[in-house]
Amino acid sequence: MSDIPNQDDGQRLSQQEAVELLPWQQSLWDDLLHRESRSGLPHALMFTGPSGLGKHALALRTAHWLLCSRRTSKGLQHACGECHSCRLWQAGNHPDVMLCQPEDGSRQIRIEGVRRVNEFLNQTPQISPCQVVILHPAEVLNTNSANALLKTLEEPPGESFLILESERPGSVLPTIRSRCQSMMLKLPELAESIAWLQQQGIEAQLAEKALRHNHFAPLAALSWLQADGWGTHQQWLGILEQWGSGQTRLGDTMQSWKSVELYDLLSWMALLLSDITKARSGVAESALTESEIKNRFPCATVSLTNLLALHARVTQVLGEINSGASHHNRQLLLESVLIDWQTLLKSDGSTYGGNGA
Ligand SMILES: [Zn+2]
Repeated sequence: MSDIPNQDDGQRLSQQEAVELLPWQQSLWDDLLHRESRSGLPHALMFTGPSGLGKHALALRTAHWLLCSRRTSKGLQHACGECHSCRLWQAGNHPDVMLCQPEDGSRQIRIEGVRRVNEFLNQTPQISPCQVVILHPAEVLNTNSANALLKTLEEPPGESFLILESERPGSVLPTIRSRCQSMMLKLPELAESIAWLQQQGIEAQLAEKALRHNHFAPLAALSWLQADGWGTHQQWLGILEQWGSGQTRLGDTMQSWKSVELYDLLSWMALLLSDITKARSGVAESALTESEIKNRFPCATVSLTNLLALHARVTQVLGEINSGASHHNRQLLLESVLIDWQTLLKSDGSTYGGNGA
């Protein structure tokens, strides 16, 4: 994870993230420069777009550029990398930037964090022509912290910029959203993403599979592959197949997933259920995330009602986890999803006859 020194804990910035502009970020960057040259940037920007496109890296890059001491005098389109401000940035020691994100294991940005932002912006810049705060991400501001931020967003003190990141701007309070200018990072075309992954040394076919498994977001696909997401996923699928057909017990199935994140398990489940729904409606196999799904699961015969109900349930929990409002008991939740899954596969009454638990 990121990390600008947040004035309290002195975390250091990982430079790599800040420097590189990825191909699909170019048009947003050009747009940003255009706005800046035309009428100056608004004090509150919100970078939106799906995860896995590098929104945070782009926010860091923007902050670095805004802070650069030579930006305005020389009309630079990138941070110079040489001035005092840029050197402090590179050392991860810049006093005029603050990162506000969930702390202490919380999934939300609490009011204490926003109070520190307000105090920080009430000081004057020490090195740079301005101060920058990055909110990472905006959708996890709780109601109190969002309210505490409103006045600052409305009239930021002095020369300061707030950069908010959000992959679900619809979950950000409208009062916050309406005070920011949104800029959206869009998913690149599939071919562009495959080409980029190939440049990172990934073979084209695997690149496409990884993209399909990661909502077509290239950075997400890359880190998934680097963490052997493909292998883990295939293993998961095999276990799910065995459980569905009654070849393993519930306890063993749960045990084999104990080191996999709940969110990942549910995301895969949501994708698989969506694939089965498509396969059931006659969508071509090549358009599905999972290949050979029709051979592995009785797609044609499962009950559509049960299928949609389970899909709705899994996506609802995913939404709750995303919003930071989830308090699910992992074991109970997974067990009940697994039982629903087995029931779903048995719903045609012929192919599968599990004796499960
Ligand atoms: Zn500079």
